[in-house]
Amino acid sequence: MHLLDWGSISRLKIDGGVSIRDLKFINRALIAKLCWRFLTEPKSVWVLLLKAKYLKERAFWNTNHKGKSTTTWKGMTSMKDHISKSVCWVIGNGAQNIPLLQTIFSPAEVDAICLIRLSRDATVDRIIWTKTNHGLFSTQSSYSCILAQQPSTSRSAPDFPWKKFWTIPQISPRIHMFMWRLISNGLPLKSNIGRFLPQFDKICVICGEEDEELNHLFLKCRTIREFWFLSPIGLRVVSSSNWGN
Ligand SMILES: [Zn+2]
Repeated sequence: MHLLDWGSISRLKIDGGVSIRDLKFINRALIAKLCWRFLTEPKSVWVLLLKAKYLKERAFWNTNHKGKSTTTWKGMTSMKDHISKSVCWVIGNGAQNIPLLQTIFSPAEVDAICLIRLSRDATVDRIIWTKTNHGLFSTQSSYSCILAQQPSTSRSAPDFPWKKFWTIPQISPRIHMFMWRLISNGLPLKSNIGRFLPQFDKICVICGEEDEELNHLFLKCRTIREFWFLSPIGLRVVSSSNWGN
């Protein structure tokens, strides 16, 4: 029984998940890597073959997989948006880019771009990956980007200091994971099991008075409050009647 959805588990640790990789997104990040190589290795034989077969004279950004095409090419074209939002051009001599500009921008915009003063040195224009400091593609950065674009299904508090939580020193991984499940409400409490089994008895087995929910079992339950108070730490939990005030 899955008490937490896959989105909560695969989310990065600093965002409240436990960073378990989602194979579907890993696959997309690897396809993005293929796109990056396609754009940055224009003289490779496999790139020349794909261009000749699918692009003809068009730019990669202006193509779609219509008709018959390989699964790889379909995957690559489906990643165009992801790539286009994560790259930018560093203009060098700008000489070889005019045909490309004409395939992306309107004539007026191309004219405006052409008026930009170019570098005097002879460095060629190059594409850089904006998601890393060094400007080169990394599958990890692409994966993080794809993950961040997914709709949030988290029930975790967005303002919770997850980074601090995961860097608490001298705590065993087992306890750390238990605390994460507790904070994320992913423990097999009766109330959580009852979400899947409507007829399931959710009453707390300790006091028999209220539903076994997270706050109740660890803080509100009358018997648990007695335990906390009589324990060596002598924790005094305020009466449940004051909760919510
Ligand atoms: Zn109770």
